[in-house]
Amino acid sequence: MPAIPLRVYITPFAEKSVREDEKWSSDAATESLNVVNAIWAKANVTFVMNECIVDKPLDMAKSVRNNDQRLLDVLTSRHAPDNLVHIYLVNPIENLVAGGGSYDNGDPEPASFVQWYYNTAANGRAWAHELGHLMSLDHVEVDYADEKQAALRSNLMTKGLSTGRDLTSAQIARVKSSKLVGRFAG
Ligand SMILES: [Zn+2]
Repeated sequence: MPAIPLRVYITPFAEKSVREDEKWSSDAATESLNVVNAIWAKANVTFVMNECIVDKPLDMAKSVRNNDQRLLDVLTSRHAPDNLVHIYLVNPIENLVAGGGSYDNGDPEPASFVQWYYNTAANGRAWAHELGHLMSLDHVEVDYADEKQAALRSNLMTKGLSTGRDLTSAQIARVKSSKLVGRFAG
């Protein structure tokens, strides 16, 4: 079973040098990662937290944090890419519909951020969803008017905050042939 190593950064936000209380902790990260691994066991992929580091605060106005691509760029600019997957855990972000952000298929580097959702199941689901993007999965678009698509509503890769954890056999096959899994297989 490929074991993919993570370096986890807990990154507190600040605004005008006033640091905000951080919701994430190393224990919360460990608990959420257990949820992540329960979800990804279906694809025989497991994630290992090599390190969990409390990062220096990121001073950023609340009003611009909801641009997920920009936030990911700022977070990743603080640490050079290396041989680990970088995960940035951040406080809840107002008006950000997505659970986090990722570089699709790990390009230019395998990095994601995940926002805090107040409970382990939701945190873990959001984290697992972002890792899905790093392993080449796109969003599942569900036509909610179509009864035949009901099963897709519980998919891990639906957009936004959802409790869905399912993966289709096509998604599992795609993950197994992804660049990231290939790098750590065998
Ligand atoms: Zn997504």
